[in-house]
Amino acid sequence: MTQLTQIKAYTKPMIANLAKLGISNLQGLLLHLPLRYIDETHVTAVRDLRMGESAQVEGEIVHAEVSYKPRKALIARLEDASGQLTLRFLHFYPSQINALKVGNTLRVYGEVRSGFFGYEMVHPTCKAVGEKTIVAETLTPVYPTVAGLSQASLRKAIGIALQQQGEMHETLPAALYADLNLPSFAASLVALHHPHPEVSLRALENKSTAHWRRLAFDELLAQQLSMRKHYARRRSVSAPQFKRSKQLISALLKSLPFALTSAQQKVALEIEHDLTQAHPMQRLLQGDVGSGKTIVACMAALQCVENGWQVALMAPTEILAEQHYRKMLSWLQPLDIKIAWLTGSQSKKDRDTALASIANGEAKLVVGTHALFQEAVRFKSLGLAIIDEQHRFGVHQRLALRQKGQPEPHQLMMSATPIPRTLSMSYYADLDVSVIDELPPGRSPIVTKIVSDARREEILQRVREACLQGNQAYWVCPLIEESEALQLATANDTYALMQEEFPELRIGLVHGRMKPSEKQAVMAEFSAGHTQLLVATTVIEVGVDVPNASLMVIEHAERMGLSQLHQLRGRVGRGAAKSTCILLYQNKLSETARARLKVIYESNDGFAIAQADLQIRGPGELLGVRQSGVPMLKIADLERDVDLLEAAKAAADKLLQSYPAEVERHLDRWMSTAGELVKV
Ligand code: ADP
Ligand code: MG
Repeated sequence: MTQLTQIKAYTKPMIANLAKLGISNLQGLLLHLPLRYIDETHVTAVRDLRMGESAQVEGEIVHAEVSYKPRKALIARLEDASGQLTLRFLHFYPSQINALKVGNTLRVYGEVRSGFFGYEMVHPTCKAVGEKTIVAETLTPVYPTVAGLSQASLRKAIGIALQQQGEMHETLPAALYADLNLPSFAASLVALHHPHPEVSLRALENKSTAHWRRLAFDELLAQQLSMRKHYARRRSVSAPQFKRSKQLISALLKSLPFALTSAQQKVALEIEHDLTQAHPMQRLLQGDVGSGKTIVACMAALQCVENGWQVALMAPTEILAEQHYRKMLSWLQPLDIKIAWLTGSQSKKDRDTALASIANGEAKLVVGTHALFQEAVRFKSLGLAIIDEQHRFGVHQRLALRQKGQPEPHQLMMSATPIPRTLSMSYYADLDVSVIDELPPGRSPIVTKIVSDARREEILQRVREACLQGNQAYWVCPLIEESEALQLATANDTYALMQEEFPELRIGLVHGRMKPSEKQAVMAEFSAGHTQLLVATTVIEVGVDVPNASLMVIEHAERMGLSQLHQLRGRVGRGAAKSTCILLYQNKLSETARARLKVIYESNDGFAIAQADLQIRGPGELLGVRQSGVPMLKIADLERDVDLLEAAKAAADKLLQSYPAEVERHLDRWMSTAGELVKV
């Protein structure tokens, strides 16, 4: 990989500026692709200008003045053989006044608008033209840049890189891309940095030209290849093999008050099979809110325990971990299986006892929060790590848990944020995925209502009635992302208001700043039906399971993300009672807020909602990538380029089979900056 410092033409300041963009070598520079383009390849006659389009015009300045009405502005008129065009500058330098002197010949570029005196351009770029100035031969690229690095110098730097033929070598067999009607890598780079003037600006900007598609394909292919390699690596690592369970699982199933759905049975079989293998499972178990993932995880745990190994079950919040602990106790205590409980907040004594039983192997199942992967936690023989709400954890945390086993433990990750197919095909290609695609029977669908905050009185009345009839309700406080202190104040205020409003009800409050033991106490009260109304922040978003709760009111629903609303709403509708979720909004909804609420209103299907979320927010948010460390796609777009994703998937298989050298070259080019974290 050629570093910029190896090329004489790059000066020190230039290299320093490029470093600000994260570019240190020629490959990085070549793959720094334009955001958009401007067409300076021909000069348009004033007569032929069209409103709203950008164009280049050449002519002589015939009038120039600084006017003060309605505000200070530099106004000039440029004339060519066909007519006159107004140029308007609302802020300007003395040098511009000079450049726009009457008699000067200029070439200006800008968007055409209609002004009082006919066509005008506001803040066009202007160039003085001499006798011999030629028009550009290719479209002019506009690059993403940083302060201190001008477009002109960036263009120059990239121009130099484009001279280094060796850097643009082809990584793929020609037949492979030709079959897909894609051009070569080198041709694509040249065409994207310096497009032919005949290419449609729109096609370039949509990234739908063959050249853009070639690079998007390459990027997707690199992702597929690297995921596939990680997958292969995993299969070469050994893990403990667990025989099918003969007793524990059937004993558990017999004790349940329900039968598994066929979707649960299907995924349980997939997991059971994985655990009999000699290499570590890495399976993502997806299932919509309330689909019953916990019992499936418990079955996997039992297979592991029956084979004499330990299981760790990790949840992202104390509330959820606590709830899992209780549920596991109720399921496993009758089977005589010892469970340890580990959180950051327990007393030293409890903690030491737990740690000892984990280390000597007495505890077969360990349930906890992030505390599970801390240094002091030593397992006797960790065989399976189960991670609930996996998108809430960072890559490093999952990696740390995996390293607690020797040999490498199996991993089961669970998520209620359904991942649209294109996303799981790309970002999760190194995982096996199981989907629970059906809800347990007997759930009546949740009715969602969108109600203006102006009708709050009515809603309060409704909460009162529901609670007095023996149902339970959640009141979710508005989300205040900017400030935890404000969030706390809001929760306390809401709680006080509710107490004032409903003196006849027993009301609880739970928020993120409470001590874990306090949270647990509040949740236990609510679970047991002692409190009727629970005022809560979004801490209850994941996992909380109180079947008798059938009404939820979410304040300022417009501030929340779609997946978040869906998760919150999933806290009701868990029992047989008909459930309602009321989304209160503040008037003056923005267009996107309106669109989002509409999605939630119309759909109860987590997959449809996630798909919409993907369109509105992009993959980073959905994957929780801010903390996951997965390198994001820069060129390809999973919505637009589905066909390329499919093609890349097929091509990856072919290359890995027959073209090992090409695979390495390709990964070298594309993954040089992506880092090692993909494999987790
Ligand atoms: P999630 O997939 O959201 O984690 P849970 O595992 O918490 O869902 O299950 C939601 C509720 O459904 C729990 O109370 C659980 O005991 C119950 N449940 C799970 N499977 C079934 C089933 N097959 N039939 C009826 N109820 C079930
Ligand atoms: Mg769950």
